[in-house]
Amino acid sequence: MKDLFVQQVGGKHVNTHKQESLIQHHVNLSSYSTYEIGGKAKYLAAPETIEELKTVLEYARQEKLTPFLFGMGSNILFPDEPKDQMLFISLKELREMKIDDKGWFVSAGIPMSHLALIGLSSGTSDYDFCFLLPGTLGAGIYMNAKYYNRQICDILDTALYIDMNDPEFKVQSIHVDTCDYSYKNSIFMKNNWIIVGGYLKHPDYEALAKGMKEISRLEKIVEYKNPSQLPNFFKYYTTLAKTWAEENNGVVPESFDNVVKDRGSKFHFDYPSCGSVFKNNYDFGEPMGKVVDRLNMRGTVYGGASISAWHGNMIVNQGKAKAKDIIYLVEQVKHSVNEAFGFVPEEELIIVDSKS
Ligand SMILES: Cc1cc2nc3c(=O)[nH]c(=O)nc-3n(C[C@H](O)[C@H](O)[C@H](O)COP(=O)(O)OP(=O)(O)OC[C@H]3O[C@@H](n4cnc5c(N)ncnc54)[C@H](O)[C@@H]3O)c2cc1C
Repeated sequence: MKDLFVQQVGGKHVNTHKQESLIQHHVNLSSYSTYEIGGKAKYLAAPETIEELKTVLEYARQEKLTPFLFGMGSNILFPDEPKDQMLFISLKELREMKIDDKGWFVSAGIPMSHLALIGLSSGTSDYDFCFLLPGTLGAGIYMNAKYYNRQICDILDTALYIDMNDPEFKVQSIHVDTCDYSYKNSIFMKNNWIIVGGYLKHPDYEALAKGMKEISRLEKIVEYKNPSQLPNFFKYYTTLAKTWAEENNGVVPESFDNVVKDRGSKFHFDYPSCGSVFKNNYDFGEPMGKVVDRLNMRGTVYGGASISAWHGNMIVNQGKAKAKDIIYLVEQVKHSVNEAFGFVPEEELIIVDSKS
């Protein structure tokens, strides 16, 4: 306890020893992104509790760093040279889950695919669409992640968030009906808010409690490796589903199998990527994959990156891609689509600013 130092900042006591212990330095962002791309971050934190998150935010405020919040990095392109003043904060270690008097609370860092397994073991198919959907619940709430006709706003009741402009970093709540949800859009994308978790809907809390216990037991027997590497993510969740099925004298449900086949046919987990690069333009009337196909751009290579040979709306890292290679192809697609069809597609992928 010798080096413990308590500092007064803005009328509050801040334990700088605790702050420092939560900050890692010179961390490779590539291991925090499913693109497996990104240079060294000068500052990175992965808080495990809301209190730790608040401590990290205080640190950023005090040191005049710009916080950049993320989850599993499955929709982000990190820069080859990150800015020195950025504090990268991954919420993937915020993994609390409980049933309380308000309902079923799930922390922001819980993977969406996990919810599908809990749904499976608690007798509801409401969460099937989350199976093998990469990323954390926090990001799903942020951008209304979807799979075909099901989206996160269908299962959310209330989101809990911290407004980064609030001097106290209080946790506030907002009901799903006032989150301005639409296709890949929400109130969270228009504000400087951090989602720390949410209350989710479930038809049967007794079954849910049993299901949560069951999956938590299976988690301990299935090997877990960094889920930001897509083959690990795929293996972990398909093994969990198979193990559950074996123990329950059954087979993996057809809806889960269909997801494996559908995503497998697009080679989603074979190359590092961030899934779809562009949002669909519903006014144009064709999904972006088809639009890119019409331009015969599948398979276009630049540096270590290529437009996927199996899905026109994915740009993959073939092994040694840099962020600049991906950005080049993104710009190529935007330019070609604009020339041919008269609109500039909007990125779904979040491209983080580089130092230069
Ligand atoms: C192979 C593959 C297939 C995919 N398929 C689909 C699909 O079918 N449907 C779909 O919707 N998406 C899909 N995606 C994209 C990805 O799954 C989603 O965008 C997911 O929501 C990202 O989660 P994440 O935790 O990785 O977020 P990150 O990539 O870490 O972050 C994405 C954005 O969310 C913000 N954010 C993250 N967490 C929070 C938080 N707690 N509070 C506030 N802001 C936050 C970040 O600032 C960033 O802007 C796919 C990705 C891959 C790699």
